[in-house]
Amino acid sequence: MVRPTIPYGRQSIDSSDINSIIKVLKSNWLTQGSKVGEFEKDFAKFVGAKYAVGVSSGISALVSACFAAGIGKGDEVITTPYTFCATANSFVWFGANPVFVDIEANTLNIDVSKIEAVITKKTKAIITVDFAGLPCNYSEILKIAKKYNLIVIEDAAHALGSKFDEKMVGNICDMTCFSFHPVKIITTGEGGMITCNDEKYFGKLMRFRNHGISKDKRDLSKYDGDWYYEMLDLGLNFRLTDIQAALGVSQLKKISVFIDRRREIVEIYNNAFLNLPVKTPSEGKKDFAAWHLYPVRLELNRLKADRKKIFDELRKKRLGVQVHYIPVHLQPFYMKTFGLAEGDFPVAEKAYAAEISLPLFPSMTNVEIEYVVKIFKDVINRFRK
Ligand SMILES: *Cc1c(COP(=O)(O)O)cnc(C)c1O
Repeated sequence: MVRPTIPYGRQSIDSSDINSIIKVLKSNWLTQGSKVGEFEKDFAKFVGAKYAVGVSSGISALVSACFAAGIGKGDEVITTPYTFCATANSFVWFGANPVFVDIEANTLNIDVSKIEAVITKKTKAIITVDFAGLPCNYSEILKIAKKYNLIVIEDAAHALGSKFDEKMVGNICDMTCFSFHPVKIITTGEGGMITCNDEKYFGKLMRFRNHGISKDKRDLSKYDGDWYYEMLDLGLNFRLTDIQAALGVSQLKKISVFIDRRREIVEIYNNAFLNLPVKTPSEGKKDFAAWHLYPVRLELNRLKADRKKIFDELRKKRLGVQVHYIPVHLQPFYMKTFGLAEGDFPVAEKAYAAEISLPLFPSMTNVEIEYVVKIFKDVINRFRK
């Protein structure tokens, strides 16, 4: 029998998830029913935010947040190059220019000590990413944002359930964006959410996902009848369906079980790899990480093989390892459009050259975990200098 590949991440779906979807399918409302509001209410409560707005994906959440923040042509937005390209794509869509700041080698998050030097009169916002679920240093970031009057949008696609200094991610920055893609902490198939505490952002976000339309009487210039609405903003259809929201409600009920298991697996890996020539992820004193990914970095000077060779050997053994991330400034679109080049962000580039993400998801069995440990140790030891 051929052993199936163990993916780097995957959803955990049980019969309660399936039943909650079936209920919606049998109901009158597949979209624009009551499930979206229910999911938003539960979600806002979970992260401790006043408002939550469900949308169709993580990138829709980011694009909506950029819209609500008023990011426009010629604005500069500070962000990390060590992320999925969607983080930067979100504001580039509005004609804003990326100002990448290199990462900190230890956490792989934006290097806070390098932010102030790149702030100009055009700087509008900082978009942070909590890489692998490890929160950025928000006490410093929020201090800088306050000093220069910048909006902070947190791309927390990896970090649902993470905390910084006891504060839940989702209730730290001006707006926080989440993704419910199947590899993320909880899933709705595709889906996303923005949380915030400011009513002005909330109104913008609600309209933007629904063609810019409002039916809220407080927003309308007049009221002609029950059919009446006004289009106040240039919006899109970024709505989450009730089918997805029902899955979200059901998934969110299990989030602490998911996160406990993720953290347990990370600890097993970290202990197992202590004596290997690799750097494993770890939390600082103020961090609580939900651990979306398990990123290891190879100590290439202590190995006879490069990352590609080791990656290929792991794949041959049916570990569905992945690499996170090709730095955004090295993507052809960014090099061409913004004149970025190799060498611009050396810490991110060095991290990329050494990174491999091992399988990590809550429904991994102990047998699978042991198999990953064994194969990874075998392969690394085989190429040890
Ligand atoms: C997954 C992810 C996104 C995009 O989410 P989608 O739901 O796939 O659109 C954005 N940023 C980061 C850091 C991600 O990991």
